[in-house]
Amino acid sequence: MSVPVIEVRDVGRTFMISSGFMRPKRPLHAVNGVDLAIEPGEVMALVGESGCGKTTLARMMMGLLSPSGGEILLDGKPIAGWNRSVIARAVQPIFQDPYSSLNPRKTVGSIITLPLRVQGAAEPEGWTRRAEEIMELVGLPRRLFNAYPNQLSGGQRQRVAIARALINRPKMVICDEPTSALDVSVQSQILNLLQDLRAELGLTYLLISHNLAVVEHIATRAAVMYLGRIVEQNAADVLFSAPRHPYTRALLASVLTPDPGLGVPDTHLGASYPNPLELPTGCTFHPRCADAMDDCARRIPVHTVVPGGHVTCHLHQNGGGSDAGT
Ligand code: SF4
Repeated sequence: MSVPVIEVRDVGRTFMISSGFMRPKRPLHAVNGVDLAIEPGEVMALVGESGCGKTTLARMMMGLLSPSGGEILLDGKPIAGWNRSVIARAVQPIFQDPYSSLNPRKTVGSIITLPLRVQGAAEPEGWTRRAEEIMELVGLPRRLFNAYPNQLSGGQRQRVAIARALINRPKMVICDEPTSALDVSVQSQILNLLQDLRAELGLTYLLISHNLAVVEHIATRAAVMYLGRIVEQNAADVLFSAPRHPYTRALLASVLTPDPGLGVPDTHLGASYPNPLELPTGCTFHPRCADAMDDCARRIPVHTVVPGGHVTCHLHQNGGGSDAGT
């Protein structure tokens, strides 16, 4: 088996949060004991509701945040202590909002070549040519080299952001909701572009999204996060066709059908998302779980290996789990 492009081993990140005037700070476990390995060429999707820890995990993978525990490896080497610019050469982000992620005072050419300037890349006389080549690759006309972001459409701006991410030929691209700020008509163009670039440049993606239609369209594997933990992981087609974890099933049920006659689907997620400062005992999903058993509020489920992946739920365990609160 090949060495994963990026691997996350038992990684956690805790923030100390103020809980009120004159009150002591309390720990918020944004990411808790996460294991994830992304193989070369994969599109690993990370899905879950807002606040589940997806973006915190991605920021640690980019070296923007240090883990409170565990380790992150790039090409098999721990990145702890690495200079941020070294990590940035291998891991580049594409953010959800091309309107705010591009400097409005800089031209397209200047924006795309920024990583070359920051990294002090060799042969500055060739930067313009490299930028024009990458513009062509992402479907931007070269005549836009001297244009400003406000002269571009939303789709063109996202193509500029993609070109900027790719100009240093990273191994891994972290796409954080890459189409959610775009018109529906442009979304599929950008997704198809990401697919084509992956094949052409041999890229590996981490796709962060709460849009399951996007995930189903592009992902090869998917991991489902809930309250800082991965509760299910498998090949994307398996996860979509035969979800095992009740939370995954509820997320999939929440996707609106195109048939208006079927109405709004019942997700069974009756209770609201818990306060992450006061995690439920046992399985943290139990207050919202349609399949919860008496034991679920008392025992923490452990990872159970299933064909192609794993799931963390007492329904799929054989005597596992541990007695504990949070
Ligand atoms: Fe639901 Fe229990 Fe499984 Fe948690 S462990 S997801 S509460 S059935």
